[in-house]
Amino acid sequence: MTVVGLARTGLAVAKLLWTKGAKVTVTDSRTEAEVFQYLNELPPQVDVRLGGHPPEVFTAADTIITSPGVPFNIPPILQAQEAGVRVISELELAYRLTNVPIIAITGTNGKTTTTTLIGNLLNKAGKQVFVGGNIGVPLAEEVLSASKRDFWVAEVSSFQLEGISLFRPSIAVLLNISPDHLDRYASFDDYVAAKAKLFVNQTPQDTAIINADDEVARRIAPEIRAHKLFFSRKQSLDEGIMLDGDWVVSRLSGRQTQICPVNEIKLLGLHNLENILAAVAVACLCGLKAKTIRQELSRFSGLEHRSEPVAEINGVRFINDSKATNVGAVIKSLESFEAPLTLIAGGKDKGGDYSPLADIIKRKVKRLILIGQARDKIARALPGFEPIQLADSLQAAVEMAFSQAEPGEIVLLSPACASFDMFDNFEQRGQVFKQAVKELCH
Ligand code: ADP
Repeated sequence: MTVVGLARTGLAVAKLLWTKGAKVTVTDSRTEAEVFQYLNELPPQVDVRLGGHPPEVFTAADTIITSPGVPFNIPPILQAQEAGVRVISELELAYRLTNVPIIAITGTNGKTTTTTLIGNLLNKAGKQVFVGGNIGVPLAEEVLSASKRDFWVAEVSSFQLEGISLFRPSIAVLLNISPDHLDRYASFDDYVAAKAKLFVNQTPQDTAIINADDEVARRIAPEIRAHKLFFSRKQSLDEGIMLDGDWVVSRLSGRQTQICPVNEIKLLGLHNLENILAAVAVACLCGLKAKTIRQELSRFSGLEHRSEPVAEINGVRFINDSKATNVGAVIKSLESFEAPLTLIAGGKDKGGDYSPLADIIKRKVKRLILIGQARDKIARALPGFEPIQLADSLQAAVEMAFSQAEPGEIVLLSPACASFDMFDNFEQRGQVFKQAVKELCH
């Protein structure tokens, strides 16, 4: 068996396969120095090939297991598939080795927030849950630990879904689908097809939780065989989770239950309201009481780098949404604020189109400051909008924003791009933003 990728997931997969008696090879395009920390932990019997992906390692394997960040369309994987080698993702492997019911969450945006909130809700209700997958602890590590659990709550990416054949979650949540990763997929339709695989093995005994406000999610719903439960921020549904006046309510089997007043919810933003409705749907399905759900919703204030309030200086609020790495996320973020906005955007381009931002930027943004490799491309996609200013660093953008913003306004970092042109990752970008804001006080 060949494991592709030697990081935390690849290491856990290699160990897991080895404990099951398999002959294991691990390969990674990085060098020994780069994967040193994982290399040391591998059982000595595991064969390691670094610094590239030798084709024979792929074509000679009977099964290849991919880590979550590995796309399925890289040449060695395609060649192996052509040679008849079975290629599965770590998600598929872990699924085959557990009997624990799985709650799987996917979507272009909101996965980590929703997965975390579902985990918190179930924990609060006294369930034994494992929360992980694409975030935090890999599923293979959980299999190795053999812990007793009531549920797995797993964040699932489109890359992992491409590598499934039997994976069947008891509850599958689809938050939204909008263009992203178009540098890795041949078309938007291919990306949608990968996300839709979440439901492919579900039966009517399982449940699919779907965003009724998302056009693409609605379009794939008729093909889903599972019992469908919709949630909506905008519509009143006969059955499902929605808003009724100022309340989040459930309407299930003809009975309406008030869950939580909207003004008690801690999480900022309309997009987070959608994540909450999805999480409430799961909680209701798992039998949680409205009171327990309400307690958690009035406590959970979200995760770092996602619509995170940073500071208020001279009446100007700063919000760090560094994790907004695609256009869909930025649109939802901008929709969430009523105050005049200075938007700081830009970074590494992922091959998408920025013109869907034009309308909302015209409506909501007072000033736009662009940074990074994609800044000219973004500016070109917004004809007629001004003022657009260019900054050479995030620190300079923050200073520029602050020098022009008036009390009562918001400065929002919501980049619509990846971070790798200027930063190690979105976390570092968010830290630099927060530090630059802090320094404004000196
Ligand atoms: P993911 O794990 O899918 O990347 P996160 O929960 O980490 O999602 O949120 C990432 C970013 O996506 C946030 O910073 C926010 O800008 C945006 N976002 C979060 N939830 C939603 C949603 N339901 N719809 C659209 N955008 C969202």
